Amino acid sequence: MANYIVSRMKVGFCLVALVMLSSCADVIDETKGVSNVCPVHQLRMERRKVEIAYGLKRLSDVIEYERAKPTRFPFGETIAPGCCVTPSSGPNFVQLYVCSECVVSVDLWHRQKKADKVSAPTSTAVPPRASEKN
Ligand SMILES: [Zn+2]
Repeated sequence: MANYIVSRMKVGFCLVALVMLSSCADVIDETKGVSNVCPVHQLRMERRKVEIAYGLKRLSDVIEYERAKPTRFPFGETIAPGCCVTPSSGPNFVQLYVCSECVVSVDLWHRQKKADKVSAPTSTAVPPRASEKN
């Protein structure tokens, strides 16, 4: 039931996003009214045009990333996350600020997550008790 609700929420969100995106220009400017100094690293940021990456992403990965983003790498995206459905016409790029230290932090975060998945046990089998070994 919970998976069904989450699935319906994702579909609804994507439909709203598609309607919003279809009425926008080819490049969305997300720098208007935003300071060009990273609040985490206190560095002046580069204004950059980045591609929007559409497609389905694992929800748990997105949630984990979005939880870490505000305090660790708020301006570290060099590819903008788009909706799960690619619009037939719509924006393909976003103008945004990119912080060089946030980019490094995002890369480290992704490497750590990858290493954690590799080192995590793949089996939940319980080892045999000492009395069962013989
Ligand atoms: Zn930063």
